[in-house]
Amino acid sequence: MPFTLPELKYPTNSLEPHIDQRTMEIHHGKHHAAYTLNLNNAIKDTPLDNQSIENILKNLDMNNMPLRNNGGGYYNHNLFWEIISPNGGGLPVGELGEAINSTFGNFDTFKEKFAAAAMTRFGSGWAWLTVHPGGKLEIVSTPNQDNPLMPITAGGGFPVIGLDVWEHAYYLLYQNRRADYISAFFSVIDWKEANMRFLDGKG
Ligand code: MN
Repeated sequence: MPFTLPELKYPTNSLEPHIDQRTMEIHHGKHHAAYTLNLNNAIKDTPLDNQSIENILKNLDMNNMPLRNNGGGYYNHNLFWEIISPNGGGLPVGELGEAINSTFGNFDTFKEKFAAAAMTRFGSGWAWLTVHPGGKLEIVSTPNQDNPLMPITAGGGFPVIGLDVWEHAYYLLYQNRRADYISAFFSVIDWKEANMRFLDGKG
């Protein structure tokens, strides 16, 4: 069963001025579509072709670069579109909001630490807030299209939110100003969706 490119739940111009329409069109319609196609090519006629993307990533052979790059790219972008929204921003809600305050002291400190993880990722990659079984939170950064579900060496857990810091995610609007893009991301995070992922991931 091939994987399919998910439809966006909102118009491509609805995240403006934080994320621009052209970036959304290319990012979803070209980049994410290519990861989807190449993931399907990587699993075609293999025992993986009937598995969930989560199982594929958890049991990934990290030396299988086509599957690592495109399986990661497929999953990461699915998540990214889900945890941003035209109605996003503001403060974290629910049990996730409480966990962020108890882990990091307050929301502003969490923001600083998450932004630092996104800023210091050299080249292309992602910053994550993850949850471990039981509810422990962690900030993780991964290179390229890796993510915390994979058998990576540093950091892990279930991704609650993820920020794409590849230049393709921000260059048209922000050029080299990654810090401004990171700041804008906080204006579109869908904390209700993030809280649901937190509840799923903590078990
Ligand atoms: Mn991307």
